[in-house]
Amino acid sequence: MSNKGLSNDESYLEKFIWTIKKQQTEEAFYVLDLVHVINLLDTWKRNLPIVQPFFAVKCNPHPDFLATLVAHGSSFDCASRSEIESILALGVSPDRIIYANPCKASSHIKYAAEVGVNLTTFDSVDEIYKIQKLHPDCSLLLRIKAPDESGCMWPTGSKFGALPEEVSPLLQAVQTAGLKVAGVSFHIGSKSHNSQAYKTAIEAAKAVFQEADRLCMPPMHVLNIGGGFVSNALCFEAAAAAVKNAVDEYFSEDERRSLTVMAEPGRFFAETPFTVVTNIIGKRVRGEVRQYWINEGFYGSMMRVDSTTLAESCISLKCMSNNSNGPVLMVCGNGTGGSRTYSSTVFGPTCDPIDKVLEGHQLPELEVNDWLVFRNMGAYTSSCSSNFNGFGSAKTTYLIN
Ligand SMILES: *Cc1c(COP(=O)(O)O)cnc(C)c1O
Repeated sequence: MSNKGLSNDESYLEKFIWTIKKQQTEEAFYVLDLVHVINLLDTWKRNLPIVQPFFAVKCNPHPDFLATLVAHGSSFDCASRSEIESILALGVSPDRIIYANPCKASSHIKYAAEVGVNLTTFDSVDEIYKIQKLHPDCSLLLRIKAPDESGCMWPTGSKFGALPEEVSPLLQAVQTAGLKVAGVSFHIGSKSHNSQAYKTAIEAAKAVFQEADRLCMPPMHVLNIGGGFVSNALCFEAAAAAVKNAVDEYFSEDERRSLTVMAEPGRFFAETPFTVVTNIIGKRVRGEVRQYWINEGFYGSMMRVDSTTLAESCISLKCMSNNSNGPVLMVCGNGTGGSRTYSSTVFGPTCDPIDKVLEGHQLPELEVNDWLVFRNMGAYTSSCSSNFNGFGSAKTTYLIN
């Protein structure tokens, strides 16, 4: 399997950025490779044909990105009224939306009922009461805490998911309220490199199906395996194999016939298609160390991107220097390329000292107005940005399509 479409080729990206750069003065900008998005959808369908993806909108709600997902058959995971509104506005029918927030404001539940979004998650008795009152026709998925969140970068279990001993009382409360539980959902944590976490979570989900049987509830038929997927080919293939094997192991052939398996991938689709191109707006030399200020940072797109990922996404790319002889392509990073490199610090533009992008990173000598490129900047980047200090995140997105 390869994630690399033609347009994901780095030399193509370089040329593309170079063309745009000529029109730009110093504003940072994104490049969104829509061909790559379509490739990722194909990769998903090839590896997990039985699992319908509901893209987690919070990960990246860029309109052109969402429109491409809509056009190629993705469904959507929304967590708020405004996310539901934005997906409906793209012409998506409400049965392609799951309201996958286990704790919802009453007014948002009422809105979901009005527009016909009829599938949601819960993990508390109080949520059952709100849904009973405001949206009694809604189908429910019991969100359980994944038993194993090791190997993920961002665990969710301290906030969401019923504990094993809470499952039976919650199911009984749903029964008493006269609502429908269609199945189970979980999230093994974002950016997981532990494919076995899916297996233990699917085993735990099966135990909930059995508990519903024991309570003589209508049979459950939906298994929602959440997010956590990364688009690295080997990791994704391992995760897909773990999911398929676990579904086969814990659900009989008969049970599988009536089973709907769905997922809520965010990072898988959003991370790699976006590149952010930043401008060096300031420089300071301290002995051998080079310090640069760029016009993107912690409060722009980088708050939820860990330092290792930032270092890697910069290393793999070229920086383009605009000297008098025209474009000069330099390799950023350790030991690659022939030019001399310096231990460099890269700061974001705000006055908060936390706003530091790279430290001790080898870069060639760069100048004010040079450009620094970061790949794989689409997951929890612009969607988490704030306007702190008046900077925000890159405003323009150029499309490769
Ligand atoms: C954020 C979130 C996701 C997406 O997670 P990724 O790790 O980006 O795939 C899926 N489901 C729920 C309920 C979430 O909160």
